[in-house]
Amino acid sequence: DPRIAGISSAIRVIPNFPKPGIMFQDITTMLLDTKAFKDTIDLFVERYRDKNISVVAGVEARGFIFGPPIALAIGAKFVPMRKPNKLPGEVISEEYSLEYGTDKMEMHVGAVEAGERALVIDDLIATGGTLCAAVKLLERVGVNVVECACVIELLGLKGRERLGDRPLFVLVNAT
Ligand code: IMP
Repeated sequence: DPRIAGISSAIRVIPNFPKPGIMFQDITTMLLDTKAFKDTIDLFVERYRDKNISVVAGVEARGFIFGPPIALAIGAKFVPMRKPNKLPGEVISEEYSLEYGTDKMEMHVGAVEAGERALVIDDLIATGGTLCAAVKLLERVGVNVVECACVIELLGLKGRERLGDRPLFVLVNAT
């Protein structure tokens, strides 16, 4: 798609953030580019409209930027998948491993119902641990995760493999 090049070039790479050796993919510059941001949302909307998706689950924090405009455009609800102790109501939580240690993701009980069809969205997939935790939370309550989507896939970290059979759609590859 001819729109991908513009999206890709609007993403800034910051070396050595948040620590030495990491090349941080920074989508905030893409948000400043009105065409690139709109093209990004449009590409997801074109893919997910007419797929009977009733839930867009966005992963904190940057899944909260891309998820809501997609949800509104396809007529789905938006469900935040949050870091621990942020959601005020009753939650279910899923622990996942990080490079050092573990983290947790939480979702409100009652936000989704068994049998619903969901899209899970984040800005970037690296090892896939974060997206996998979101998928597991939804699947534990009987939701069918139709696809995971990210703006950027970091290649070489096997994130896609970690998702198993669940399809992953990305706009831009990075190394
Ligand atoms: P994973 O769990 O290893 O796949 O890491 C993905 C999570 O880390 C996502 O929530 C991303 O927002 C975040 N992340 C990791 N690397 C980057 C990066 O270079 N830019 C932006 N976010 C990143």
